[in-house]
Amino acid sequence: MIVVLAIDALEIDLVEEFNCSNLKQKHYGKTDITEFSEPRTMVLWCSFMSGKNIEKKIMEKGDKEMWNTKIPHDETFFKEFDNPKIIDLPGFSYEKKQHDAERALLKSFFDAKDDEEKTDIRKKYNAHAFEHHREIKREFANALKEDHDFVLGYFSLADVIGHLNFGNRTMIRMIYRDLDEIAGTIKTPYTVLSDHGMVALGIYGDHSNYGFWSSSEKNLGNPKITDFESIILNSR
Ligand SMILES: [Zn+2]
Repeated sequence: MIVVLAIDALEIDLVEEFNCSNLKQKHYGKTDITEFSEPRTMVLWCSFMSGKNIEKKIMEKGDKEMWNTKIPHDETFFKEFDNPKIIDLPGFSYEKKQHDAERALLKSFFDAKDDEEKTDIRKKYNAHAFEHHREIKREFANALKEDHDFVLGYFSLADVIGHLNFGNRTMIRMIYRDLDEIAGTIKTPYTVLSDHGMVALGIYGDHSNYGFWSSSEKNLGNPKITDFESIILNSR
């Protein structure tokens, strides 16, 4: 079984600071995403699964419609596997309802006039994200026990929570610990991959212009996100 732990907005500086050894593994580093005009989640994951830069095609859909993207199975490298399980990946098996609810809460947060209202909305937003995270965690744990030749689990928590709470060190540390624990449950060699990292923007968080990878087996240097098609297929 080949396993990819796909984590949105995993920041290399924090992986180091919080010393997340299961996320770091033996080899880790940054990915090179400078070929993309901006570090956009949907563009990066769609390009990852397609094995090529499809930014133009995704951008043509517009900011809102791009979240409805579903890349056909046959246009991804997942087709090379007999029984792959791809959990919650944007552009493939993402739960759109979850994203829509996050967006709506985010908008009402920034529209809210007073601090009390903001605090209230932030609480709801965070609770919603943590609940979804627990569901995906369960699904991932089950998939690891099943008979798949490829399992990819996508975790959005660090990104979703990071946007509104990046200044909350305690909360961010707790999330990194949890993600590190999830990596620790994988009993076969695995790859950790993130689309981009995160930088502070006041108390908020914004996407950084590099991603993250780690591997127990190989030093991959400074790979592009589109290189992972061949990296993963060649590891079979
Ligand atoms: Zn992202």
